[in-house]
Amino acid sequence: MIKPGRLKIELPKDVKHILDTLTENGYEAYAVGGCIRDSILKRSPDDWDITTNALPEQVKELFKRTVDTGIKHGTVTVMLDKKSYEVTTYRIDGEYEDGRHPKSVEFSSDLVEDLKRRDFTINAMAYNEKDGLRDEFGGIGDIRKGMIRCVGSPEERFNEDALRMMRAIRFSAQLGFSVHRETMDAIRKLAPNIKKISMERVQAELIKTLLSDKPETVELFVECGILDQILPHVASVLKSPKKTIVLKMLHNAEKTPVMRYAALLYYAGPDAARETLRTLKLDNYTTEMVEKLIRQEAIPIKVNEIDVRQAMHDLGVDFIPMLRDFKRNIYKSKEEVMFIPMGKYLVQIETVYKMYQQIVERGDCVSLKDLAVNGKDLIELGMKPGEEIGNMLNLLLRVVIEKPIENDRQVLLALVEGKLADEKK
Ligand code: ATP
Ligand code: MG
Repeated sequence: MIKPGRLKIELPKDVKHILDTLTENGYEAYAVGGCIRDSILKRSPDDWDITTNALPEQVKELFKRTVDTGIKHGTVTVMLDKKSYEVTTYRIDGEYEDGRHPKSVEFSSDLVEDLKRRDFTINAMAYNEKDGLRDEFGGIGDIRKGMIRCVGSPEERFNEDALRMMRAIRFSAQLGFSVHRETMDAIRKLAPNIKKISMERVQAELIKTLLSDKPETVELFVECGILDQILPHVASVLKSPKKTIVLKMLHNAEKTPVMRYAALLYYAGPDAARETLRTLKLDNYTTEMVEKLIRQEAIPIKVNEIDVRQAMHDLGVDFIPMLRDFKRNIYKSKEEVMFIPMGKYLVQIETVYKMYQQIVERGDCVSLKDLAVNGKDLIELGMKPGEEIGNMLNLLLRVVIEKPIENDRQVLLALVEGKLADEKK
C-alpha cells in the first residue's frame, strides 16, 4: 500500500541540484509528470522534468548552460554535464485551436494550475523533498487501482488535444492499467478527431504500444475506432478472424519495431504492409524489412548451399535469421491458438538456417565487397571503367556463390583474362 504522506522518492543528484538552486533563490520547484509516476511504480524514468514558478528568463540566470528549447511555451533546457533537463514555468494552456496546439500559453504562479493542464491523473503529480508529493487529482489512488483517467472532463481534454486518446491506450499497454470507463467512452465518441494529428505523433504512440509488455492492447485502438480512421489495413486485420493469432504473434514477437510491425501486418500482406508503414512515415529500413519478411515468408528458400548464399546476397546477410524468427513466431503462435502441432512447417527454414550458420562460419563470399578482386584489378587487366566492369564483377560473384573455393585472386584474374581473350577472338 502506498501512503502518500510518507512517500519518499529518490531524486537523482542533478535533479536535486536544479530543485535546490531554484528553491535557494526563492522560487518553488518540483519534479513533475512521468518521472514521478514511474518512480512510484518502480520503473526507471526516461527523463526528469521540472516545473517551477520562476519565469524562463529567471531560470536562465541561475544556470550556466541553458538552451531555449521551447521558451515560448515556458521551457528552458538546463544542461548539466552531458545530460539535459527541461525546466518549465507553471503554465495554463490556452484554447486548442485545432485539436493539436494551444493557441497561447499563460504563465501561472500556482502549481495546481500547471497540474490541471496535464492529461491523466497519474501524470499530474509533482514532488520535492520539502513538500513531498503534491497529488491534487487522485493520481496515487489511480496508480493503486491501475487506472488511466483524465484530469477533468475527458471530452474536453480530448477535444483540446486528440493525441491524448492514443496516449491513454499507450499508457494502458505500458503499465498494464485499465482505461477508466468515462475516459474510454469519450475516446469512442471522439475517435474521428485523430485525423487532425500528424502521422509522426500517431506513429510514436503506436510504436510505444507495440514495444510494450502488452502489445496486444493495440486491439483497443481498433475497438474504439481510432485506427479505422487512419490505418484501415490494420483495422481490417484486427477485425478479421485472424485477430487472435495476430495478437498472440505480437505478444510472442521480439521487442523490435521490425518484428512487432511484421507481426501486426502479416495477414495484411506485403503490399498493404508497405502502404501502412509509408502512411506512418516510418524509416526505410523498418518499412523494407517488414515488407520483405512478409513477402518472403511465402517463398521458401531452396535447401542447398548455393541457393542459401544467393539468398544472403539478394535479401541481405542478416535476413535469414530474421525470417527464421518470424516463421517460428507464426507457427508457435498458431500452435498456441489452435492446439495443432506446427513443427513440420519449420523443418525447411531450420535446415536453411543451419546452412546459413555454416556459410557464415566458413566466411564464404556472398557479396561484391568480399570478392577477392575488385574494379581496380579489372582496369589493370585492360577493362574500361563502366558498366562492363560491374557486369564482370557480378559474373565473378555468381561463380563464387556457386563455388566458394574459387574466391581466390589468381583464380578469378585468370578467369577474367580468359574471358577477355575469348571476346577478342
Ligand atoms: P513517456 O516519457 O514515457 O512518454 P511521459 O508521461 O513522461 O511518458 P512526456 O511526453 O514525456 O510523457 O510528457 C511529460 C508530462 O507532460 C506528462 O507526464 C504529462 O504530465 C504532460 N503531457 C505530455 N503530453 C501531454 C499532452 N498531450 N497533454 C497533456 N499533458 C501532457
Ligand atoms: Mg517523459
